[in-house]
Amino acid sequence: MDFDDFFKARIDALHAEGRYRVFADLERRCGSFPRAYDHRIGAEVTVWCSNDYLGMGQHPLVLAAMAEELRGSGAGAGGTRNISGTSHAHVLLERELAALHGSEAALVFTSGFVANEAALSTLAASMPGMVVLSDQMNHASMIAGIRHSGAEKLIFRHNDPDDLARLLASLPAARPKLVCFESVYSMDGDIAPIAELCDVAERFGAMTYLDEVHAVGLYGPHGGGIAERDGVAHRLTVIQGTLAKAFGVMGGYVAGSALMCDFLRGHAPGFIFTSAMPPLLAAGARAAVRHLRESQTERAAHQERVATVKRRLAEAGLPVKANQSHIVPVMIGDAAHCRLASDLLLREHQIYVQPINYPTVPRGTERLRLTPTPLHSDADIGHLVEALAQIWQQLDLCKVA
Ligand SMILES: *Cc1c(COP(=O)(O)O)cnc(C)c1O
Repeated sequence: MDFDDFFKARIDALHAEGRYRVFADLERRCGSFPRAYDHRIGAEVTVWCSNDYLGMGQHPLVLAAMAEELRGSGAGAGGTRNISGTSHAHVLLERELAALHGSEAALVFTSGFVANEAALSTLAASMPGMVVLSDQMNHASMIAGIRHSGAEKLIFRHNDPDDLARLLASLPAARPKLVCFESVYSMDGDIAPIAELCDVAERFGAMTYLDEVHAVGLYGPHGGGIAERDGVAHRLTVIQGTLAKAFGVMGGYVAGSALMCDFLRGHAPGFIFTSAMPPLLAAGARAAVRHLRESQTERAAHQERVATVKRRLAEAGLPVKANQSHIVPVMIGDAAHCRLASDLLLREHQIYVQPINYPTVPRGTERLRLTPTPLHSDADIGHLVEALAQIWQQLDLCKVA
């Protein structure tokens, strides 16, 4: 077999379907976010699709904590968490995360993906007869963990407690059950009815696992996420989050009971058999979490910018998909047009928005996913809305979401 022929055929197929992925070549410029230098066009651009939702990636407190830890501890962790890799910075970060979620304990992983994969595969594989009930729209990292566990999986309709109840009622009472879902879904920006899903899970004695990746730092009086905002954090068995989005650094974690965390610490291969995150990342992430537990400034400014962007786009007749979160999907509905709109934004307007195509979203729902931050100015918003309105006319795109 000619392996290169195989790779080429598969890549050609991606091109033919209009879903070949083209990456940016950006140089983030600390201090001028959301501006970055784009090496493809040789110019500065405004980034409108970053998951550094609050600009914590350049926050002085975060940078200072990282610089201090870099000078103090050096570059890497020096080992796995078990063998020489656990630094004081990891211990402090896990304490901070437990405090953030009001839980007994937390456990840090090298990324949010790894946290989901490792925690779900271990939880679901370890209990005989386990059935996993998974929201239809769950993220690839949760799906990977559930698959890897080998446990039976039932998919409930997106954000639908009645469908979850129907599935749970069909299962023998004695079987252990795990219900997993997200709080803010990253592509549509819709929000789970966490209390209702917990009501159902509790009725059937099921464990609950909530991915708060797109909500931690952003919602709740201390940035504990939607579960904190809704006053239901204590009802979840596991809350999972990332340190790489609103907290601006890198890493992932789960929070929950001391026994649950201790169990994963001793059983999850994705936690045990990999080098610990560098202490400087742990220190930076902790500084971000600690700051956002106290400060409302960033969250308030974020919500205000989001509301302004949504309002301005609607006034311009652009098809924003309505939701209650900070994610602003502008619908296009066709892969080729979506890529073209993104190219025009970049090359004619110095605005960077990555096109979102299948398989990230279903075919026919291709979109531009905008993520306003507190650092986008009124002028940035005006520039964005004008550019989009012009492109909608140029490409004769649809105006209803
Ligand atoms: C980004 C993402 C993750 C993975 O988090 P990383 O820290 O980026 O690995 C997990 N779940 C959801 C819903 C995500 O969007």
